[in-house]
Amino acid sequence: MNPNTYQRGLKRVCDAEKQLRIDPLQKLQFVNIYWVVLLYIYIMRRPILLFVLVLLLMPVIGFRMMGHSSWGFYAHKRINRMAVFTLPPGVFGFYKDNIEFVTDHAVDPDKRRYAVTGEAQRHYIDIDHYKIEEEDVFVTVPKKWKDAIKKYTEDTLQAYGIVPWHIEVMMFRLTKAFQEENYDQILKLSADLGHYVGDAHVPLHTTENYNGQLTGQKGIHGFWESRIPELFAEEYDYFVGKAYYIEEPLEFAWQAVKESHHAVDSVLNFEKILSKQFPEDRKYSYETRGNVTVKVYSQEFTKAYSDMMAGMVERRMRKTIIAVGSLWYTAWVNAGKPDLNKHKNKQISPEMQQELQAEDKLHQEGKIKGRGCDHN
Ligand SMILES: [Zn+2]
Repeated sequence: MNPNTYQRGLKRVCDAEKQLRIDPLQKLQFVNIYWVVLLYIYIMRRPILLFVLVLLLMPVIGFRMMGHSSWGFYAHKRINRMAVFTLPPGVFGFYKDNIEFVTDHAVDPDKRRYAVTGEAQRHYIDIDHYKIEEEDVFVTVPKKWKDAIKKYTEDTLQAYGIVPWHIEVMMFRLTKAFQEENYDQILKLSADLGHYVGDAHVPLHTTENYNGQLTGQKGIHGFWESRIPELFAEEYDYFVGKAYYIEEPLEFAWQAVKESHHAVDSVLNFEKILSKQFPEDRKYSYETRGNVTVKVYSQEFTKAYSDMMAGMVERRMRKTIIAVGSLWYTAWVNAGKPDLNKHKNKQISPEMQQELQAEDKLHQEGKIKGRGCDHN
């Protein structure tokens, strides 16, 4: 793969993760006040107070940006989990027995983005890159991978994201795993497929302006897909109906991308309108996460934005859940409906456990080595 393609994919992922940075001036002011108080106490020669103050303020000075991933870890996990309950008998029992696995591993593809070359672009497609004047990109961009390569070259496709095609690849792999009755792979691929289907349902995963960076709205990526679910997703209605058979998974993936893309204008415009009504100090607030204080979109601003979109995030989440369940079910049907009862009480093999642990380790090391977002 062209190294520039890899770098572009990684940069895109990382930009989207750098949602909010603490305003350096704000931080400076805060630190200044901190030192002024310390100095004052020192002058007053009250060492015990100094000690107490240092202890109290330690967590607060550890400002950092708020990290995000696609759909946020919370939403990805919730989607895979709820998808299990859409399944009909025949598959339901199997997924119910393994619900913790598909939930926990819903975010594995995001962890792999820094460690695996070619992973980053599987999570999005910048479909507007292909737009020429008033043409409809959903007509002009070939749906099939081979036709699209002929028209644009593989390097270009990789550079601007491949999510709909990757969903098709994942469907082939999952179907094969069902045919081979490969317990490990069925679970791993199901969890992964749920992730990519989730990403295809997020409007900002379908545009070059993925983090509002082209329109002065940096941070909107995580605002839409992490902050809103974090505050409101507990109240969403997850009764989404029953999974159904999907005749054309590739066409289905494209449909998800198309619906997502059609929502991009609202996602960006509503934020812009509200930002004019909210002064900075009401748009953002500070919250404590663990032992650090992070700058976040205020609850008031988030509520106003969510209301303005009239439940868009909830609608996209609900659509994703039924989509994930339906694709799992379709893969099982296409594999000839193998009997899944024989996997009852099975455990993930030690080899698969090792593989997953190695992936996790790579993810951690990737961050430490500087391939993660904080260092780009
Ligand atoms: Zn993702």
